Amino acid sequence: SSSAVKYKRIVLKLSGEVLRGGKSGDPIDAPTLHAICNQVKEIHDLGVQVCVIIGGGNIFRGLQGSKHGVDRTTGDYMGMLATVINGLAIMDCLEKLGVTTRVQSAIPMNQIGEPFILRRAVRHLEKGRVVIFVAGTGNPYFSTDTTAALRASEMRADIIMKATKVDGIYDKDPALYPDAVKYEELTFLDALKQRLNVMDSTAFSLCLDNNVPILVFDLGDEHAIRKAIAGEKIGTLVHA
Ligand code: UDP
Repeated sequence: SSSAVKYKRIVLKLSGEVLRGGKSGDPIDAPTLHAICNQVKEIHDLGVQVCVIIGGGNIFRGLQGSKHGVDRTTGDYMGMLATVINGLAIMDCLEKLGVTTRVQSAIPMNQIGEPFILRRAVRHLEKGRVVIFVAGTGNPYFSTDTTAALRASEMRADIIMKATKVDGIYDKDPALYPDAVKYEELTFLDALKQRLNVMDSTAFSLCLDNNVPILVFDLGDEHAIRKAIAGEKIGTLVHA
């Protein structure tokens, strides 16, 4: 029912690392992929319009590559291609669960997916298709968090749901400080003042300027996304 839905159109940002996991430790772990796609199906079945932005960090990151001698720009293109691999895995799994998808790539690859076309992407959502945006923004020196901020602004999404392996934003690194405190909610200004790492600065300023709220949460709970959609208090919500 619609009462279970607080957000109608969302951008779900999955970092590449959320696909790794399970016993295999593979960059794309099959049961982990399946569990995530089940969560997407669950909210899709509620009528939520879902755009997926997938990262590539489980396979390649340009900045890391550049530390090992790969030219930064080349490395960034390698990273963008990594997101395409992940996006196809998500497409395949969602389709097998009965969810219709469309892949749109910021770098044209006609055999693999459509090029990114805003109005077409909106139309797909209206027809109940999940749109998977791959190849980031298509530009080096950007991130898939920035892609999420950009697409959420363009698509007029209600929120970015940023799924990571931490369950929210803390006042200090919980891995280093056992007394770290998690925030339930923050304003953009609080996050800036306290120099909290919500997203990289380019992504963060886009969200701030275009007033796109960000929910940072952990995908560990098998119904995490549905709970977030229902407005349950999970993760940390950053808003205006
Ligand atoms: N990337 C890029 N431009 C973009 C998006 C991504 O150059 O618009 C490259 C960049 O090298 C990045 C890699 O693709 O490190 C993978 O994306 P990201 O690090 O954002 O993935 P995540 O950390 O979410 O898995």
